[in-house]
Amino acid sequence: MKGIIDLTQTLKDGMLVFPGDPCPKIKTAHRYDNGYFVSIVTFCTHTGTHVDAPVHRLKKKKSLTDLSADRYIGWKTLVLDFSAKKGSILTSEVCKKYDKAVKGCDAVIVRTGWAKNAGKKAYYDGFPGLDEGTVDWLKDNNIRLVGLESPSVNPVRHLDIHKKLLENEILIIEGLVNTDRITSKYVELHAVPLLLDKLDGSPVRAYAIIR
Ligand SMILES: [Zn+2]
Repeated sequence: MKGIIDLTQTLKDGMLVFPGDPCPKIKTAHRYDNGYFVSIVTFCTHTGTHVDAPVHRLKKKKSLTDLSADRYIGWKTLVLDFSAKKGSILTSEVCKKYDKAVKGCDAVIVRTGWAKNAGKKAYYDGFPGLDEGTVDWLKDNNIRLVGLESPSVNPVRHLDIHKKLLENEILIIEGLVNTDRITSKYVELHAVPLLLDKLDGSPVRAYAIIR
């Protein structure tokens, strides 16, 4: 079925974010007092559904300013199923089953079902992740964008796995939801960040187009 599936978490005042990061705050600047409605939103760059730029982990690498909008679009995105239990790590063994399917793709969505925990404390406890072998598999298949339902790329070794992905310029989308609504093996994925000058990440409106 053709259409657009929204893969974005709603950004709300006080919503849970990665442990240690500040929660978003939403205040009202004008509530029709001057005839219009204006809000003040304060959020961490890694809030809800968001992208990571290489500088998030690597001091001298690219920031959002250095990346064109199309770098956050997967023109042909494979939906890879990895129905993960708590603590499961996607390995190259699982990825190999997709060796044929991934040909010609520039992005991958890892569909785990973990998004059902989004907004709860359990979301941050033992979320599914990737290992080094998976990063190599993505790299070997010329994947330049990977989308995850988890809040980070690995529950324990997130520093190492972020580094390996980002030094290879495989950009990361974290916190996708609604992937269970995707009915096609391939989609076009859009998750373009705000153009925040020289920064490390940004919340996005992520969506999949089924053609
Ligand atoms: Zn992030």
